[in-house]
Amino acid sequence: MQQANTIDGRAIARAVRTEVRSKVDAWTAGGRRPPYLTVVLVGDNPASASYVRGKMRASAQAGIAGDTLRFESSLTEESLLGVIDRLNADRSVDGILVQLPLPGHINDRRIIARLSPDKDVDGLHVVNAGRLAAGQAGFVPCTPAGIMELLRRSGITTSGKRAVVVGRSNLVGKPLAQLLMQKGADATVTVCHSRTRNLSVVCREADILVAAIGRAGLITAGMIKPGAVVIDVGINRVDDPARERGYRLAGDVDFEAARRVAGWITPVPGGVGPMTIAMLLSNTLFAAQRHAAGNNNRA
Ligand code: NAD
Repeated sequence: MQQANTIDGRAIARAVRTEVRSKVDAWTAGGRRPPYLTVVLVGDNPASASYVRGKMRASAQAGIAGDTLRFESSLTEESLLGVIDRLNADRSVDGILVQLPLPGHINDRRIIARLSPDKDVDGLHVVNAGRLAAGQAGFVPCTPAGIMELLRRSGITTSGKRAVVVGRSNLVGKPLAQLLMQKGADATVTVCHSRTRNLSVVCREADILVAAIGRAGLITAGMIKPGAVVIDVGINRVDDPARERGYRLAGDVDFEAARRVAGWITPVPGGVGPMTIAMLLSNTLFAAQRHAAGNNNRA
């Protein structure tokens, strides 16, 4: 039976991280200090704390310096804005990442808006969204940037292809659609969402189908054109009494059935996920290079 090629996100992420490490080594060999990333973590959400640990570990492995500023969940919005102002002004900090979600009493949007767009390594500031839409250089959100890298390094071309992105979030769906339609990528892009009619019909037209929804198994084999590239961004917890922790992680695509129809497919876990951290490292190095270019006395 035909089976899709699996895109190994772990291996590709490892390659990106090794490349970032070499570039950082070359950068510091020139006498410059390493890129510096500050992560801001508010509250005690265990998932957020674990993501932050993973990001800091990966940064250290890539030769990127940094620190994590931890605050109680009672921190006020005003105080957090003050922290952001201080980090914006601190010339030793290249990249700032505010781990989301923030506690309910703090407005995420107001905090992100306060970041210096040139330190916004997550690419969430509206200036960076605007730069992306206008085809200008800026910070691209890590998950969609990672998906483009997965395609490129798997030798999958996008030019002239029909791409369908299911999901229109500012974090994944919208920026990915921008990247796919940009000059150079040149795909013809359709964005679907919760109100899209005849989702199956639209998905079946895709040469490249991306699921960024957050609903386990929503994309079934019948929605996939034979031979298509299927990128599964979803990370969902599905009850699984056979596992000690009581659940397993599943994507938005019915993987076992889809791999018999698709030409290429990303697994969950081990597909898009590892690329997100790899691109954060790449963005942090880019931030340091941009700052150095804007300030020659900085090293
Ligand atoms: P979101 O909730 O902000 O957006 C979900 C999108 O799916 C919305 O635009 C909505 O219109 C669309 N949608 C919902 N139900 C639908 C339906 N029945 N049919 C068609 N479209 C529908 O989510 P997000 O932040 O974009 O994340 C999406 C998924 O990707 C989540 O599972 C999230 O955990 C995962 N994610 C993974 C990574 C990673 O590193 N792999 C990074 C970010 C998000």
